[in-house]
Amino acid sequence: MLKRLILMALAGALAACSTTPESTVRAAPMIVLKLDDFRADGGVHPGWAQTFAFLNEHDVTATIGVIGEGLEQPDPDGVTWLLAQDARGHELWNHGYCHCRSGEGAAQIREFRGMPFAEQRTAITRTQELGEKVLGLAFTSFGAPYNSTDEATAQALAEVDALTVWMFKETSDIAAPTNKVQLKRIAAVNIEYPVHIPDFDQFVAGYEAHRDKPLLVIQGHPQSWVEEPARLAEFKQIVMYLKADGARFVTPVEATAKGAGI
Ligand SMILES: [Zn+2]
Repeated sequence: MLKRLILMALAGALAACSTTPESTVRAAPMIVLKLDDFRADGGVHPGWAQTFAFLNEHDVTATIGVIGEGLEQPDPDGVTWLLAQDARGHELWNHGYCHCRSGEGAAQIREFRGMPFAEQRTAITRTQELGEKVLGLAFTSFGAPYNSTDEATAQALAEVDALTVWMFKETSDIAAPTNKVQLKRIAAVNIEYPVHIPDFDQFVAGYEAHRDKPLLVIQGHPQSWVEEPARLAEFKQIVMYLKADGARFVTPVEATAKGAGI
């Protein structure tokens, strides 16, 4: 009997030795869920409502890109909903004013690419003003529609001290230096493949290839996720995968406070 107990103890010790020591296990990255395109004048679209009901149920922090123009004459339900998400710790951020573009192909002009400096500055500052007037808060992060920006965007942002974080800057730092903390996009790691369509398998492939990074900012458009039930289901699968892996969901400001970004 004693011999058997000793053998069992030895077997247990060997099994313990064969597992990876805790110190060599790399911690999962921080995750910013960059969710775009909330317009408060449209009330609360079911895509937003269902996405955040899920995130809140699982205590997952995300962000909401707010379009300034939608705050000019907002639906009260949209405002109430935004404030409730802010109170839960989700970060609301400045996603420009009109989310507009004109022209086609290479000649296409976007709100923050190809527009004059003065108009870009107004788009940013008017959205900041509306955030303060309607929501009672100063946005601290900026992300341009289509992630399209140029030198004038950097100059305009430099005049808005409240904005400290930029997701994602398109032009080089030589052509357009900035004093904002930049959170970079890794194209291979996304929620949607292609845009508007969450894809769990492609996400996992991208995530595992870049899991060694300290921070991954992953972008999506909740309003598109209720067009087919599979889309929201794929997003939920992505979030549960990240949770199971030990990823920490943070806001852009929290990420920069922890040293992420450049
Ligand atoms: Zn957008």
